[in-house]
Amino acid sequence: PLSDDVDARVLARGTAGFCGADLANLVNEAALNAARYNQKTVTMQDFEFAKDKVMMGSERRSLVINEEEKQITAIHEAGHALLGVELEHSDPVHKVTIIPRGMALGVTQQLPEDDKHNYSSEYLHDQVAVLLGGRIAEEITNTTVTTGAGNDLDRVTELARRMVCEWGMSEAVGPLTFGRKEGEEIFLGRDIVQHKDYSEDTAIRIDQEIKRIVTDNYDRARSVLTEKKSELLRIAEELLTREVLSGDQVKRIVSGQSLEEPATS
Ligand code: ZN
Repeated sequence: PLSDDVDARVLARGTAGFCGADLANLVNEAALNAARYNQKTVTMQDFEFAKDKVMMGSERRSLVINEEEKQITAIHEAGHALLGVELEHSDPVHKVTIIPRGMALGVTQQLPEDDKHNYSSEYLHDQVAVLLGGRIAEEITNTTVTTGAGNDLDRVTELARRMVCEWGMSEAVGPLTFGRKEGEEIFLGRDIVQHKDYSEDTAIRIDQEIKRIVTDNYDRARSVLTEKKSELLRIAEELLTREVLSGDQVKRIVSGQSLEEPATS
């Protein structure tokens, strides 16, 4: 049976894009976790554990990480988390962890407030800034800039490209869609081929606009993190001792409150 604290809405927000098999897997993992601790009911904590496992792979506590790597990871994730809390239009921070999972040494999870079908320009700009935050946090604290940010930067470029080419969010380029996808190619089972239906001039302008979106948000993110550097360091410090922080705990750190009770999830 399910415990009363299981909130299907919170689970649904955190599992957007799951197919039926993923959801079955999620319920199964939650039940297994409850059984492991001889619980009579399956609690929200079991679902949280199961969700992380299904989405990001098992925890790899056996992975040997030296103190320096841990420190860099904490700073990096603190950068994402602080921006997630500070920027008005970004998705709320759900939790931050420096427990390695799958390929990642740390993760900052954001949960959308509702099912988003349309993305506003402000939201997308804030997402770009949050993604850049990890790298910037490393830079402004003179922590070695790691290759850990590689995936963030890929996602930033992809997001900025779609803002310009698919969602018409660049005034300089205009509200046109470029590089439409060829349905036939997909049907034939090949990779999606970007159909180039624009001139070299437009290609250059698109590149400039992508660069501008990234640079503008880089500057914006950097000024927030520089101004709140002490909060940034405190989040990193708490991450090093607790390994996991909830979104609420991050907010409490940013507003200068203490974290008396231990981390709950
Ligand atoms: Zn990152």
